[in-house]
Amino acid sequence: MQSPASPLLLRDVPLWPNGKGSAVALAFDLDGPTGDAMLDGSLRQNPRYFSEGAYGPFRALPRLLDLLAQHALPATFFIPTWVVENWTEACTRILREGHEVAYHGHYHEYFRDLTPEAQLQVMERSRAVFQSRLGVTPQGFRTPSGDWTAETPALLRDFGVRYSSSMRGEDRPYVHPAPVGVTPLVELPARWDMDDYTALAYFEDPVFPEGQDRISDYRTVRANWIAEFEGYHAEGLFWTTILHPKVSAKPARLAILDGLFTAIRRHDSVWTTTLAEVAGWTLQQATKEQP
Ligand SMILES: [Zn+2]
Repeated sequence: MQSPASPLLLRDVPLWPNGKGSAVALAFDLDGPTGDAMLDGSLRQNPRYFSEGAYGPFRALPRLLDLLAQHALPATFFIPTWVVENWTEACTRILREGHEVAYHGHYHEYFRDLTPEAQLQVMERSRAVFQSRLGVTPQGFRTPSGDWTAETPALLRDFGVRYSSSMRGEDRPYVHPAPVGVTPLVELPARWDMDDYTALAYFEDPVFPEGQDRISDYRTVRANWIAEFEGYHAEGLFWTTILHPKVSAKPARLAILDGLFTAIRRHDSVWTTTLAEVAGWTLQQATKEQP
């Protein structure tokens, strides 16, 4: 776990390009049906669960891309490469419309449970799929299910990954420690406050949430998400999201996202961009500001 008080942390309030007051990089995890049930093989006996996940790339994604286009907002999509293999055309549209794609495992593996060798194998497999199916080499990584091992940041950096959006303990970009002369891995923290599972996910078998009976009032969710964005903007910080098309890009829930995107667009002083752009800017600043 990286300390939020890392000596490599940048200034108290980050400096943003072109005099912008804060940075917003919307991010979506296009997990589809990958994850626990695919990893343990139980998905074969659970077609209902499979179809719940498949709804993401199949139905929710096109609707979300339409909405992003309406608001002229760029986004980053973290995609397990099993999804890239099975919905290649849908993923091609993401790139065609100017968004970014980034690493998120192959089957959504838990990096915290894998040896460094196994983590590297997942990364190599993912890179091969991104290159062969989409013709791109991603710059970013978000660890599936939110944790990793002590070796992961250096492993990612040496693999050529430029940034991670996996840790929680900051609201500004920072860089992971690296040997002198080596380009560090940028961390672009994301927080569970902006994970749509906290308010909107509802699955059965396996159950989520435990104990069930909780889908929040959509008007409240919209108000909460707008308040989260406004708070970060007021302090001049960096803000990203952990949203899942299969959870929040459903017909009635699109109004939540529409309200959020409208609120962001209301401020001319927000730098709306992709995570890769924020990472590039952060590295540029880190190089300038290091003694
Ligand atoms: Zn995920």
